[in-house]
Amino acid sequence: MSKSTQKQATENADQVIAKSRRHQQEREKTYREQALKLYPWICGRCTREFDHKNLRELTVHHRDHNHDNNPADGSNWELLCLYCHDNEHQRYEQQSQYGSSQPEQKSSSGASHNPFADLDVLMKKNK
Ligand SMILES: [Zn+2]
Ligand SMILES: [Zn+2]
Repeated sequence: MSKSTQKQATENADQVIAKSRRHQQEREKTYREQALKLYPWICGRCTREFDHKNLRELTVHHRDHNHDNNPADGSNWELLCLYCHDNEHQRYEQQSQYGSSQPEQKSSSGASHNPFADLDVLMKKNK
């Protein structure tokens, strides 16, 4: 019956998804290009230098971790190599984990105990 209209509808949905995906890719390409124009091609952490041959390994990092925050002056961008970019995000995730105050790590429970604490007190007494 209305098979053709149904097909039309799904095609439209796919088109919309494809369009937004393309839009995002274009936006990412744009801020990357802008950042590469603004900044020298050097990793902001390990100061590794890049040229056209290995430019793919130089990435644009968002300082506030908000990919929608792309001011034209580049104040939210930082050029980082893949490795430093990875580190930066790991550090950020760790920070937000510690910030949530959920001490559920069993492995660290024994590590905080200092077996030499008593010894330290004894040493101080002797002095
Ligand atoms: Zn680096
Ligand atoms: Zn990043």
